[in-house]
Amino acid sequence: MSKNIVMIGAGVANVNAATKLIDGEYKGKITIIDMGKNPYDRKYSEVMEGFLGAGGWSDGKLTYHTSIGGQLSKYCGEEKAMELFDQVIANFKRFHPNPSEVQCSDPKSEPEFIKPYFGLRLFPVWHVGTDYLHEIGKNWYDFLVEGGVEFYWESKVTDINFKNNKLEIGKKMDGHFLYYDTLIFGVGKSGIDFGKKLAEQYDLPTEPKPVQIGVRFEAPQKHFQKLIDVSYDFKLYRKFEDKGVSLRSFCTNNNAAYVAVEETYGDHSYNGHAKKDEAFRNNMTNFGILMEVQGIDNPFEWSRELVGKVQEEGTGLFYSPTRKPTTTSEGIEVSTIQIDSLNRIREAFKGYYTYIDDFIEDMKKVFPTLGDDWGVYIPEIKYLSPEPLVNYKDLSLTKYPNVHFVGDALSARGITVSGAQGIYVVESLLGDIKEDDYIETGDIISF
Ligand SMILES: Cc1cc2nc3c(=O)[nH]c(=O)nc-3n(C[C@H](O)[C@H](O)[C@H](O)COP(=O)(O)OP(=O)(O)OC[C@H]3O[C@@H](n4cnc5c(N)ncnc54)[C@H](O)[C@@H]3O)c2cc1C
Repeated sequence: MSKNIVMIGAGVANVNAATKLIDGEYKGKITIIDMGKNPYDRKYSEVMEGFLGAGGWSDGKLTYHTSIGGQLSKYCGEEKAMELFDQVIANFKRFHPNPSEVQCSDPKSEPEFIKPYFGLRLFPVWHVGTDYLHEIGKNWYDFLVEGGVEFYWESKVTDINFKNNKLEIGKKMDGHFLYYDTLIFGVGKSGIDFGKKLAEQYDLPTEPKPVQIGVRFEAPQKHFQKLIDVSYDFKLYRKFEDKGVSLRSFCTNNNAAYVAVEETYGDHSYNGHAKKDEAFRNNMTNFGILMEVQGIDNPFEWSRELVGKVQEEGTGLFYSPTRKPTTTSEGIEVSTIQIDSLNRIREAFKGYYTYIDDFIEDMKKVFPTLGDDWGVYIPEIKYLSPEPLVNYKDLSLTKYPNVHFVGDALSARGITVSGAQGIYVVESLLGDIKEDDYIETGDIISF
């Protein structure tokens, strides 16, 4: 039996997976196909595609808690999950040109001033910063190439035949196909529609997910400094158990903080990132205010429809009582249409926007200088499309056990958890492989 491992997506999950294979002295062939570019050629504007995927151009906040982003402990238990997180964080430091620059924020208690209105989730976060991530990416890529990983860049996988282990590749490699023994599917958010298509085509059993939707909030950092001093990536939260609604601030960026546009299913939504280099300092803070709503029938279609209603001229919307939208770190205006009333938004959110209104009103009480000095980019969305049902021991599809789903393709939502899933899969593969399993695989690309 040959052990030809093919990974779709050179994102955080698969880059960590490939690293684990090399560290584990894996002797079979490792191939990674990505529709984006290698870290030397990837441009700033390519937010979601290329080496390290969306993680490579993110703010690089490495969160260290199993309740943040995905449900790793569901598959492997709490203790194992934390050990996998340690491995991911160690990888980021290993390829960092100056590892002592990675700062850790580790708040120990909730500050009194937020208590009447919000809870604060307390957990450590390592902060890498976007510009350092680029350097990490180059070092990491060189390590993988030297370790024998074969990369295909600007090559989009357009179809997979799970029955005869065959991939079809478009874009630069149009017309090529490739066979695998083991496939690791880590296409991230940019490949979410591809994952959905496959789930439908192969009638993959799924686990239902709640809706997670909201806005990206932006304001001058000074208003939040008191809390940032306690926790860089603060997570304010509140829960309305009887209504099945919970809200939290999500992915906070500070100092040199920029709002980023994401494109999913052809619609625009917002996220944020921050740079470490002082040259980019704009003294702004941005974070998502995300709402999780339980009990909605067909949550995926519900959120798709909502996002469609808050688009105009092919982009999302911006509302502020006083401010204008900001620019990206390259000085280009954030793609958005400014609106002067929230009525249309309230209608699209079908009553749920009240929770976001209240969240902002209460922030004004906790951070008294904030007043009307803020804006929201609408929408921010975490598409929790139904998660393909996997075997918990190795994240393989219950119908196709040589196909493993990892990262955002398995609803991970975060760097540490995505990387941890990649490593988890590889640990199980390495455990299963015996020395005499390896044979020469020969050329795998055909015309
Ligand atoms: C602007 C921004 C900021 C973020 N900030 C943070 C943060 O600070 N902390 C945090 O924990 N998380 C953050 N995230 C989320 C985090 O980046 C993702 O959760 C993580 O990268 C997911 O890893 P992944 O490997 O599953 O997918 P990705 O890293 O997204 O990689 C997927 C890769 O698959 C490739 N691909 C997709 N489809 C195909 C196809 N058909 N054929 C070939 N290749 C394909 C893409 O080109 C991409 O390179 C941020 C995301 C964004 C967009």
